[in-house]
Amino acid sequence: MYTPIRSSDIREHNEKLVLRMILMAGAEGIAQSDIVTKTGLKAPTVFRIFNNLERLNYIEMSGKPEELPETVKKKGRKPVLYQIRPNTFFTIGVDFWENHLYAGLFDLTGEQKQVLTQNFTTHTVEHVLETIIASIKKLIADAGIASEQVLGVGIGAPGQVDLESRSIMHYPGITGINNFPLCEHIEAACSIPAFIHNNCAVLGMQAAEQYPIQESLFLMIVRRGINGVFIQNRTPFVFKNNKTIEFGHIPIFSNTERCSCGAQGCLEAVISKLDNHSGNDWLFEPYYADITALKENTKLFNELIDVFASAVQSIRRLFDPHLFLLMTGNKEFSELLCNAVQKKLEGCTSIFDDGDFALQATVYNPEHALLGAAKLVIEHLLS
Ligand SMILES: [Zn+2]
Repeated sequence: MYTPIRSSDIREHNEKLVLRMILMAGAEGIAQSDIVTKTGLKAPTVFRIFNNLERLNYIEMSGKPEELPETVKKKGRKPVLYQIRPNTFFTIGVDFWENHLYAGLFDLTGEQKQVLTQNFTTHTVEHVLETIIASIKKLIADAGIASEQVLGVGIGAPGQVDLESRSIMHYPGITGINNFPLCEHIEAACSIPAFIHNNCAVLGMQAAEQYPIQESLFLMIVRRGINGVFIQNRTPFVFKNNKTIEFGHIPIFSNTERCSCGAQGCLEAVISKLDNHSGNDWLFEPYYADITALKENTKLFNELIDVFASAVQSIRRLFDPHLFLLMTGNKEFSELLCNAVQKKLEGCTSIFDDGDFALQATVYNPEHALLGAAKLVIEHLLS
């Protein structure tokens, strides 16, 4: 029998701290004595927390169960290690934008159990909401689990996200989505807590896991639109009013192209114009099959690099990240942009450029987006 867990059940700070450490230990497991040493908590407190987490079905002893009683009895043997109980509790991650949705079910160790993809047939908030809800229900049904076993749904949403009202502030790709209470509707329909962040932030948080925690990074995604996120201490920068940054709307002013936000000369509007407003899933997608053709279109390519170099340099001045990741839907396209931008910036070094800056090409991977979104649930449970 499973005990449904909600944030309120593990609100105690120490309990969350211990659970986080067990989660981070992964399949190797961790002993109570290690937690005592690392946290400074008293041994009886850690013992009580372990008992409680075990009673709630969150954790179990790692190793073969039949060997455990013997191990426990004999003095001087290795201490009993505990791990997160696999296949008991799950999280769901969703990543969507104008045309598509990806959704995936993960266990608490981050292993992907199910994944599905859907195309939006109409670009209205009603249809998008309906598709998200149906996808969540399908993942649960296909996995043969109860919805109580899903601790939450993490959503990577396009456009600017307000983390307080848990809604999208501005996204021109889906009619009616601005200020729509997306999370509340999902929670009402699925009876599962929902958490939201910008989908670029979700990708950035996931990317940051590969680098030392002290290394900051800026991730720029060039998809149907453009967005970016600055990650420091593995945490996305948000404005003081809890809204995500809107990198796609920084002013470039290389022309006066009118933007969907009402301003003129925004990065996204300028790049979209260079792409001839082709309406593909990815900006410059027709060139994905023949990257050389883009490079050979000298006028277009030079304009593109001028704009990207300005955007990268603005971010460098504002945030000075250790690493700048440029993400598109095609590795060769990302590499072409990175190399050309790097070359351009090297040709006009400023006294503020200390050389400690790396521009790196990367490619969109839906699995990373989904895992990052699913981790929003863990973050909220343990925060
Ligand atoms: Zn704009």
